Amino acid sequence: MTSNVIIANLGYLVSISCFIVGIKRLSRVRTARSANVLAASAMLIAVASQLIELETVDYRYVVAGVIVGASIGAVLAFKVAMTAMPQLVAVFNGFGGAASLLVGLSLFAAIQERGTLAEVMIGSTSGLGTGLTLLLSIVIGAVTFSGSILAYLKLSDRYGSVFGKSILLPQRHLITLSLFALSLGLCAALLMFLANPVVSTFAIICVALFALLLGVAVVLPIGGADMPVVVSLLNSYSGLAASATGFALNSPVLIVSGALVGASGLILTQIMCKGMNRSLANVMIGGFGGESAEGAGSGDASAYTNVKSSDVEESALTFESARDVIIVPGYGLAVAQGQSAVAEFASHLKGLGVRVRYAIHPVAGRMPGHMNVLLAESNIPYDELFEMDEINSDFRSSDIVLVVGANDVVNPAAKTDPSSPLYGMPILNVDQAPIVYVIKRSLSPGFAGVKNELFDLDNCRMIFGDAKKVLEELSVHLDLAKAA
Ligand code: NDP
Repeated sequence: MTSNVIIANLGYLVSISCFIVGIKRLSRVRTARSANVLAASAMLIAVASQLIELETVDYRYVVAGVIVGASIGAVLAFKVAMTAMPQLVAVFNGFGGAASLLVGLSLFAAIQERGTLAEVMIGSTSGLGTGLTLLLSIVIGAVTFSGSILAYLKLSDRYGSVFGKSILLPQRHLITLSLFALSLGLCAALLMFLANPVVSTFAIICVALFALLLGVAVVLPIGGADMPVVVSLLNSYSGLAASATGFALNSPVLIVSGALVGASGLILTQIMCKGMNRSLANVMIGGFGGESAEGAGSGDASAYTNVKSSDVEESALTFESARDVIIVPGYGLAVAQGQSAVAEFASHLKGLGVRVRYAIHPVAGRMPGHMNVLLAESNIPYDELFEMDEINSDFRSSDIVLVVGANDVVNPAAKTDPSSPLYGMPILNVDQAPIVYVIKRSLSPGFAGVKNELFDLDNCRMIFGDAKKVLEELSVHLDLAKAA
């Protein structure tokens, strides 16, 4: 073993350890930032170790690649809004899938050049393993790539109007199953005709093409609130594809990091499904978000009969006399970029001696942890943030609940209306509070597209307007009250 290989192996070990610790630390808001730095460093160590092992690499290209990649990453980090994060993750997954696909195809071409795939695969057990993992890397990579690009189009503001909803093709299940069967059948054909380079090359190209179509067929029927779940699942696929590529390339660091992404993506998918009370199979069959649920109410303004609105000044007066306020942030807070405004409003309340807490629903926003990250941006202390289970019994004893741009996660229909698509989803029990204020721009529905029973309750007051603007105005009134 040369000294380069020894150094590279040590590098892989350090990198794998950092990946594992990084993923573990990502599970807590308090440690998530340092976890990101650790995982990014692990990636750098992994790439450097690989280059040390290869020895013959031209470092000028590497440096150029690092500069281009880091510049794109830096621009994206500054430019992309929190609300656009699922789209960005979709694109990243797509790139991961594309990388596995391309590495798989080029490895296939390299093996063909050396002899035939048959010699490599049939010659030894490890050769057979290489061939099978190479096929997996191509199939899963292609599914991940095309599925993720379609997911991006569905989630993006620009193309969402065309692709966003659930698109249900006639005989869609048959189409999906046929594409799956064709991809597998061609893999089998490839194994049978390994000795013939023309047939095996044709077969591998067809495998990649059918797998690309399969990715489109799987994601096409999914829409609306289910999209982030699919993005998380595709994230898991991208990890599995990378892991398969790692086996084909005999790269331990790629095997482990891919497996970590695959497993964590699956766990996240599971958490999201649980938070929305859906099974993964139900999400993948699709259709949700394409049509509004029968009997659940259309969610437009005419569906409401008892809505009471309140202006900012009047609402501020009520807040002045409160002692215990719980704030419920939702997706609308992220849209309004109102995180600093809510922190300022809370500090005014605290200045008046009010106890302020934040109630965080696991799927508030568009991805798990969305609200925690948003509030952390404004340095809201972690000990003021409470998970749903910790705070759900406290709404009843609070004085006021302020719902800011949240809708589905506070809809009591999830508990009372079996016809609602939200039925069974665990929600924040804000309806039990003595007074509920809801800041939103109109009576339009949330992500699920259904009427919110909360807005018709006697204890609920709507403050219509942009979340940031309303919060800033509330702060001005509280400031005046303090000065008086
Ligand atoms: P919702 O999407 O239900 O509602 C957000 C509300 O914000 C809208 O009703 C909108 O009303 C309001 N809003 C938008 N812009 C503004 C603004 N500038 N100022 C004030 N209000 C605004 O959000 P929730 O957070 O309650 O629920 C999240 C939804 O996302 C759930 O359905 C959940 O299942 C789904 N989801 C979440 C995932 C996750 O992991 N977090 C994953 C998958 C799905 P208006 O237009 O009237 O202002």
